[in-house]
Amino acid sequence: MKSISQSTALYEKAQQVIPGGVNSPVRAFKAVGGTPLFIKSAKGAYMYDQDENTYIELINSWGPMVLGHAHPLIEEAVEKAVKNSLSFGAPCQKEVEIAELITQMVPGIEKVRMVNSGTEATMSAIRLARGFTGKDKIIKIEGCYHGHGDSFLIAAGSGAITLGQPNSPGVTKGTAQDTLSAPYNNLEAIDEVIRFNPGEIAAIIIEPVPGNMGCVLPEKAYLEGLRTLCDEHGILLVFDEVMTGFRLRKGGAQEFFGVTPDLTTLGKIIGGGMPVGAYGGKKEIMDHVAPVGPVYQAGTLSGNPVAMAAGLAMLSYLNEHPEVYSRLEEVTKKMHEGFQKNLESLGLDYTMNTVGSMHTLFFTNEPVNNFADAQKSNMELFKKYFHAMLDRGVYLPPSQFETLFLSYALTDEDIDKVIEANLDSLKAIHA
Ligand code: PMP
Repeated sequence: MKSISQSTALYEKAQQVIPGGVNSPVRAFKAVGGTPLFIKSAKGAYMYDQDENTYIELINSWGPMVLGHAHPLIEEAVEKAVKNSLSFGAPCQKEVEIAELITQMVPGIEKVRMVNSGTEATMSAIRLARGFTGKDKIIKIEGCYHGHGDSFLIAAGSGAITLGQPNSPGVTKGTAQDTLSAPYNNLEAIDEVIRFNPGEIAAIIIEPVPGNMGCVLPEKAYLEGLRTLCDEHGILLVFDEVMTGFRLRKGGAQEFFGVTPDLTTLGKIIGGGMPVGAYGGKKEIMDHVAPVGPVYQAGTLSGNPVAMAAGLAMLSYLNEHPEVYSRLEEVTKKMHEGFQKNLESLGLDYTMNTVGSMHTLFFTNEPVNNFADAQKSNMELFKKYFHAMLDRGVYLPPSQFETLFLSYALTDEDIDKVIEANLDSLKAIHA
């Protein structure tokens, strides 16, 4: 057993002064139990905790560190930027450069506004969709996460006619009324919601490949079907590509699947590890944002020069190195195939969903195509698996309803170790 005495001591102190000891709930290991690890440093494909234990990284800060940790190019760009002051609150050259690059890379973006997080990006995109269409309601997909804006913290009602309910205290019933839900991979359900709310829906917001119910893939023609429904009914299609943007392809899921949304939200990779988000889309929609248009949105630190330098270094590298994406797919495929062999050798039949460098092993034998399917997973087994992998030095997301994010820094030898840990862990939890 590894010693985690330093993490344990920090966690105890943290709980005295930070709610739950963490600054974002999932980090508290609530779903898996045990003590969260306090991280001291990370380099390439490895992360080191306060007790000097080493872990192979398969989360990568929930996505941003797609090239691995402490990439020299990004570090250099940040170091250079820092010398010129940390913030101006006035326009700077790097903002223009990153906006130009984003519009080149992402098919659906002609104009883009930088913000500071994925949450801000989705909140702002929905306000814009409402302001642009003059309609109030939005459709959200069950199990998709779009940050902690009030409009998104809504539990689905049962069927198209029952209203959603706030799923956090502090979100008003009034807000809940404007958020309608439908299951993922189900076009009929969307069609039904639209028919029950004629002329009232501003936008459908969706993770084109959800990562927040575990990794789930769109069935053939699902995304195209959404595009068609939106066009037929004057609804804006919003792809939340905070996870998939610059990850599945340099142009995100919209490039991967060839479906272009009206608005796109971005986060994670776009900041190279710094707190950055963005929303963008067609010119005529984006020109409704202040100061050209009436839809208000602002930010003291938006377009921050240091964050822009990090993001620009990251996006430039991805734009110029298409081999990153083939390599990411290659390592992820290798891992998937290794896990598959392990499962077969043990007579197990759990479901794995993999696309690009996103992957989830669900502890259920049934296919997982939406949130209800994902919820059939055996959480007790997941918990044991998570800890078994952690004990063997592999750092996984601490919830069944999350996706792995592999990085370009992983070597074939790292993946071999992960596959071996998977075999040992599966054996251990079924012993
Ligand atoms: N959208 C998606 C798809 C996400 O995965 C997340 C965060 N995991 C967000 C929005 C919110 O981003 P942030 O945590 O940066 O506010």
